Amino acid sequence: MNSIEQKLDAGDTGLEAAKETYLRLKQEVSSWQEERGPVWIGSIHQAAAPPYYSLPDLPEEAVLELWQRLNLAGDGIEVSPEILRQLWREFRQGRPIPETRLLSRLHLALGGIVQMARESLAPDFGQDEQSDGRCPVCGEEGGMALLLPPVGKRYLRCGICGYERPVRATGCLLCGSEDPRQQTYLEAPEYPGVTVAVCRDCGGRFKEFDLRRLVAEDIMWEDIRTLPLNYAAAKWLAEERKEKTV
Ligand SMILES: [Zn+2]
Ligand SMILES: [Zn+2]
Repeated sequence: MNSIEQKLDAGDTGLEAAKETYLRLKQEVSSWQEERGPVWIGSIHQAAAPPYYSLPDLPEEAVLELWQRLNLAGDGIEVSPEILRQLWREFRQGRPIPETRLLSRLHLALGGIVQMARESLAPDFGQDEQSDGRCPVCGEEGGMALLLPPVGKRYLRCGICGYERPVRATGCLLCGSEDPRQQTYLEAPEYPGVTVAVCRDCGGRFKEFDLRRLVAEDIMWEDIRTLPLNYAAAKWLAEERKEKTV
């Protein structure tokens, strides 16, 4: 385990504001699900095989409606509907959305729609269904690892829809590499129970929350709260690469 030594910027007033915004957006998703869910649920179709609710197949108008509501709830600014539509179509084709606030609200909107569909349409598909490392529910890659009490059984939680599925106890969740020399786990004293796993085989990284050491009411908030750890890990990686090339 490597410890990140620089002092992380944790627990300032920015964090309070971020939490307030996060809770407001989450509340907006719940309100939308309640008010508008019955209107949209008929147009969301479950596929016969995973991923059951692939993001590009979600009804465009529902996505745009909830996304816009989150933009309004976030900072009170309506984004031009044409721009949102354009960005959504680009996102569906795998192109990135550069504006991080718009992107994180889109993620929340997609997660809210998929969760709603999952709960009302298919309450009981298998725990262990895999689809080439992607989330069997929404088709997205990656996410975060959770180690659950009492023994630390490892689950991969989808970063978009929150679906949790059991995964191997060790190794990289992104590429499957099991070579311990290629895996580094970074942690910082400010965040007990949270590590960022860095994989040299695929260059990817993901967060791991050890819920035996950490009480987390809301894992998505935990992920946001510990963002300084992501930045520190990115910096650590960049320096390591620099050292290698000297
Ligand atoms: Zn998912
Ligand atoms: Zn990897």
